[in-house]
Order: sequence, then C-alpha cells, then structure tokens
Amino acid sequence: MREFQSKKDVMIIGGMSTTKIAERFGTPVMVTDESALRENYRAIYKAFNDKFPTRINYACKANTNLSILRILEQEGSCIDAVSIGEVESCLRAGFVPERILYTGVSVSDAEMRAVAERRVPINVDSVNQMHRLAGMNPKHPISLRVNPDVGSGHSQKVVTGAKGAKFGIPKEEIIAAYAEAIELGFLPRGLHAHTGSGGRDPAVFGRVTEVMVEIFERIRSELGLKLEFLDIGGGMGIPYRPEEEIMDLDAVAAEVASKLKGSGVRTLVIEPGRYIVADTTVLLTKVNDVKSTPVRDYALVDAGFNTLIRPAFYDSYHPVAVANRFGHAADVKYDVAGPICESGDYLAKERMLPRVQVGDLLCVYDVGAYGFAMSSNYNSRPRCAEVLVLDGKASLIREREKVSDMFRHQKVPARLRE
Ligand SMILES: *Cc1c(COP(=O)(O)O)cnc(C)c1O
Repeated sequence: MREFQSKKDVMIIGGMSTTKIAERFGTPVMVTDESALRENYRAIYKAFNDKFPTRINYACKANTNLSILRILEQEGSCIDAVSIGEVESCLRAGFVPERILYTGVSVSDAEMRAVAERRVPINVDSVNQMHRLAGMNPKHPISLRVNPDVGSGHSQKVVTGAKGAKFGIPKEEIIAAYAEAIELGFLPRGLHAHTGSGGRDPAVFGRVTEVMVEIFERIRSELGLKLEFLDIGGGMGIPYRPEEEIMDLDAVAAEVASKLKGSGVRTLVIEPGRYIVADTTVLLTKVNDVKSTPVRDYALVDAGFNTLIRPAFYDSYHPVAVANRFGHAADVKYDVAGPICESGDYLAKERMLPRVQVGDLLCVYDVGAYGFAMSSNYNSRPRCAEVLVLDGKASLIREREKVSDMFRHQKVPARLRE
C-alpha cells in the first residue's frame, strides 16, 4: 500500500482531492496514479536488468485499460496476452506484434488463427495445439509452456504451476514436445512457465528458474536447439495486509540471476501483472447507508462484488480508509459491504474506521490489478468509471456504463414484443 497525503482531512491522489474526483466523476470510480504506474514499471525493469538482461512482458489481464497500456508501451514494456481480446487491446494501444506473447489455454482454432494472422508469437500450451498451429503455419514463431511442477499463489484458485494443473506441457513430456516441434518445421524460440499469482518468496522464483535451466540445457544437448529466451512467468506479489512485507525485488532478481549464471540463457523474460498495476489504483465508493445489527456494524457503500470481486472470491484483503476524514482516529469496527443481494457481498470485514456517516467517501486501496478487469454487471449494475490522475489533473479513461448499455446486445424475439 502506498502512503497517501491529505489536505484539510481529505485524501489526495496524484495531487487531486479524492472528494473532488468523486464529485466530478461520480462513484464508484477507480482512480489510477500515472506516476505510480511508471515508477512500478521502472523499479521492476531496473531490479532485473541490473542483474540479467530481462524483457518485461506486462501480464495485461491484470488491467487492460487502453490508457494504462499506452503508458506501459511508452515505458518500453512488452506484453503477456491470454486472449485475442487482449491481443487486440494491446495492438490498439500501439504495441507492435513482436512485443506481444500470446499464452492461451483451451485455445480454439479460430482464436489461434486470428492471433497468428496478426503475427503475434504464440506460446503453445499443448502438443495438440502445436499440431493445429502447424496446420496453419509451421513457420510461426513459437515457444512452449511447461508445467514446471513448481506452484505458488495467494489462493489455491491462482496456483498454475503445480503438478496436475491444466496449464502447459508436463515437465516429463517437454523434451519430446520440442523434438516434435522441430519435426513439424517450427523453430521454437523459448521456454515458458508460470507458477501462480501473488507469491512474494524469492526461493519460488529461484526454484522454477532452476527447473527451467535444466530443461533449456537438455534441449541444447539432446536436440541441438539453442533457445533465445527463458520466460519464468509472473506472480510477483504485493503486500495487501499492513503486517505483510513487501517483496524484495532485488532479492528475487538476484536469486533468479544466480540460477541463470553460466547457463547459456541470453534473455530472461518475466511477466509481472499485479506487481506493476495493483497499488497504482484506488476505488472511491460512497456510503449509502450505515446499519447496526446485534452482531456487527455495516458501512454500506455503492461498490459491491460487481465492482471489486477479490474479497468475495478469494477472501482477499484490501485496506480501507475514510477519504473525507483521512487520518482521523479509528474507533468503530465495520464490515464494508455493497449493494449486491448476496450476504457474500463485502469489500472488507471487521475494519476499524473513524465513525462513518451517510455520504462519506471510502477509499479501497490496491485495486489496480484484477479490479476493474474482473468486474461485472451482476444485479444489472453498470460498471464503474476509471480516471487517471497526474500532477493535480484528472482525465476520464473509461466512461461509467449506463443502464442502457446493458440492453445493447440483447434481442427480444418478435413474438415476445407484442
Ligand atoms: C496471470 C498471468 C501472469 C501474471 O500474474 P501476476 O500474478 O499478475 O503477476 C503471468 N503470466 C501468465 C501466463 C499468466 O496467466
């Protein structure tokens, strides 16, 4: 969580008063600090490149807002995309195809053809997929995804690298898969793995690198193929809870680099998503109602799990503050819940906050990753607006949806229209 300043008790982000942002753009609204985004990118770029030549493939599923993508394109980032929609978003944001790597799972022929036609390199998830691609273009640039049998994550739901996961080619079959790729006419360029999301332990990144270096060397000695890159995926976490420690970027980079030393690997690729965007963005949400029950007190706000699903879905913790009484003594314990008609709809549980009143503005921190990206129209609620702030100026980067937007794709058969 970043430190925020206040002016006359009102929390400031990017030099802008949060209450002014809420007045101007309405709530709920997600507000991204452009300098924080650039800072995060530069920090991870530097930490790794100080130790080893590293390409950063921003895992854009964390946040695909076109303005965020534009900023990262300007910073020199590359992209990890997991769908044709993400590929198209990144092309639209100005990324050239070579700066994108497409890593799908359960890939249809139609999607693979579309990605290939846009000349975006494909990171193959299965031998079956590789055969289907060979039928389209056996010269397409590919790499292979291995399941490294090294998993990690903040929740079981996001562990991707453990044995038995649906992702990649099992470690035991990966050499044979490269041999088959060569037979099919491909010239594979790299080896990829992704352990999971939200880990902060340098040892895990070291372990997966070690497994992959071993495979890299077997591919060279047994098949005579020298790969250009080793892509160890993303998963670099951030501390959401106040008692959690930040991930030591330099330690992770040093641990990974130590496993690469003398290996013959020329380029390391990493795919941080969360790390780059999570703490750049806050959710501003207005208090609609305050309720005391015999068991607990509720601050009822205008954002629910339709806007931010992480607490309900992963039991994730996001810090909360009262933005218009910032820094005041916290003396009442609240559950912060939204307008969705399910008791599982909450943003925060048992939080000490300054006494909350109807009309107050709450700020939920660290929503830049898997925040808007996972939001929905559940309960027929339009998705929220997104705003970018820099040096005291705010720009709308996504309009708030309207109720009418939700009718756009629906069709009512003529016989029901009478
Ligand atoms: C989700 C994902 C990432 C990024 O994960 P983070 O935890 O956001 O860093 C990287 N690579 C692949 C293949 C992914 O699916």
